[in-house]
This record gives sequence, C-alpha cells and structure tokens, in this order.
Amino acid sequence: MIGRTLGTRFFASVAAAAALSMGIAANALADGEVNIYSYRQPFLIKPMLNAFTRQTGIKTNVVYAPKGMITRLQKEGRNSPADVVLTVDIGRINDAVEAGVLQPVTSRKLTANVPAQDRDPSGLWFGLTRRARVVYASRERVKAGELSTYEDLATPKWKGRICIRSSRHAYNVALLASLVAHHGEKQAEAWAEGLKANLARKPQGNDRAQVKAIFAGECDISLGNSYYMGKMLTNEKQITWAEAVNVFFPNQKGRGAHMNISGAGVTRHSGRKDNAVKLLEFLTDDLAQKMYAEQNFEYPVKPGVPWSGIVESWGKFKADSIDMVKIAENRATAIKIFDRAGIP
Ligand code: FE
Repeated sequence: MIGRTLGTRFFASVAAAAALSMGIAANALADGEVNIYSYRQPFLIKPMLNAFTRQTGIKTNVVYAPKGMITRLQKEGRNSPADVVLTVDIGRINDAVEAGVLQPVTSRKLTANVPAQDRDPSGLWFGLTRRARVVYASRERVKAGELSTYEDLATPKWKGRICIRSSRHAYNVALLASLVAHHGEKQAEAWAEGLKANLARKPQGNDRAQVKAIFAGECDISLGNSYYMGKMLTNEKQITWAEAVNVFFPNQKGRGAHMNISGAGVTRHSGRKDNAVKLLEFLTDDLAQKMYAEQNFEYPVKPGVPWSGIVESWGKFKADSIDMVKIAENRATAIKIFDRAGIP
C-alpha cells in the first residue's frame, strides 16, 4: 500500500520534472517536498523524517531501494525524481560517488555537525551515524585478556574459533580496507590468510547469525557491527544470543576500533536542492542525531550528542580516526585480497 502511494507521488514528481524540461513553470508541484531513495529500511528513518516535516513543513517521499539504487539513478538521469540518497556503509556511498549520481553541497551547518573524517571533502556525501565493527566474544569460552586487536585474530590461538559473514559483504571489506590503509597490502593479505585458517566454518549468514553460532557453541568469537547488540537485546527471540556474548572493542591501546558510517548525499539532478540540503542539515543536527542513536543503537556523528542507554552500557572506547575516504580508496584492494586468500 505504501509503495502504491509513493509510486503515485513519484509519478507526479516525474511529471513535474518533464513539465520543467518542457519549459513550463511547474515549480509549484515540486515545492515543499523532498524525495529520498533509501537503502535504509523505512521504519528506521520514518520517525526522523516525520520530525523533519513537523519542523520545516517539507514533506518527504521515500523509495526503499535496497538493491539497484545506483543503476536506477543512472538510468533515470536528469528525469530522476530523487533528491537525496540515504545509504549505509562507506562502500555503497563510494559506489554512488563513482557512478557520478551525487552533487557537491556546501553548508556551514553540515561541516560544523559532521567531523571531517566522516564526510567527503568536496561535499558529495556526509556521514549521519557511526558504527564500530566489534568482536563478539563468548562469555563462557573467551577469557578476559584473551582479546586485543584485529591483527591478533589471525594468530593460531584462535584456530577453529572464529565465525564471520561473507568476506564480500561491505562491512568486512571496509574492515580489511582499514588494515590495508594502516599496514599496506602485504600485511593485510597475511592477516586474511591467518583469519581464514582460524575460521570455525564457511562464512555464512549475517552479523547476528554469527552471534547465534557463538550461542550454539559453533565458535567463540565473531565480527559484527555494534548496533546489532542493541537490536538483539531488544528482540525477544535473539536476546539469548546477545546474552551469550560480550562486546569487545579491538585495538584500544593503538589506533582504536574500526568505524563505518551510514550517510547521505544530494543527487546530481535534484530539482529541490534547497530542501535536500535542509534535510541533510536536519539529520545531522541534535534532535535527529539523538533519535538515530536511540532507535538504531548507532553512534551519533555529531560530537556531544548523547548515546542510547544500551550503547552507553558497552562503555566508552577509542575509535579509529582514519578518514572514511581512505577506507573507500582501499576497498578494491581489500576485495582482491579476500579473493586471493580464498575466503568466501
Ligand atoms: Fe547492518
């Protein structure tokens, strides 16, 4: 039903765009709205978008496009009704940059709200939330002091004890890209080989499925994004999985835990750039940042915004401060390394 309503709205927007291209002043149709293509599930962003509409009077229309969004934007070209792209993971943001579907934005508010490491230097995209890629460790089988760094996960003491999701998944690619950025390709490859030797099973499932496997005794540790702990703890079917593990932030004596982001950018052919920028500014400001933190168990990008109580309970930690752009640059190398190492 939602899809149908949105489809109709978008039809109206496409009509408006077509009217504009014919030289007819159709601005009235486009005013007061902003169209969003989202990789994020609608229920996660709806409360923030509702708050945005309440504050600005600008209506939001969302198309949930978990697959094929960039191709769609390219195909639609200048007739695209989309104004804003919302996505998770630096890899997908980078794909949008490389496909040329974003346009640069200058906004003092955005540069003030989003730290430099979490936005594109030319304003093509801005981080909205941050997530740590943590180690989930069995409470029963992993002793305090046994864990230290991502690098250590490639040492023989973890043989047969590690579960991961597919190495091709953007979250694992970004983690390996950070190792390439910090240590170079050769060392990163040695790490991938060491990790492979330590896997308890063939990579499969999502981040939460690895914690379930720890709960089931199939492995002792896994890699996963931090917010999944919050999601499992608030899900009555998964709480037992969550309670079987501790959250561990690696590399606390060194560079800090690997971070990833969710982010947003304004589309290249947006017909409502002002509204699009207003939305980005709103999403990086205190109210929306606090809502994101509480609903999604993510870390706000804006410094000083409080974390959710559950997230706070995992403790303060040191985060890797490397630029997200550097992670993006090393993704292709990371994918090749996983290939050569033969990790599915
Ligand atoms: Fe996720």
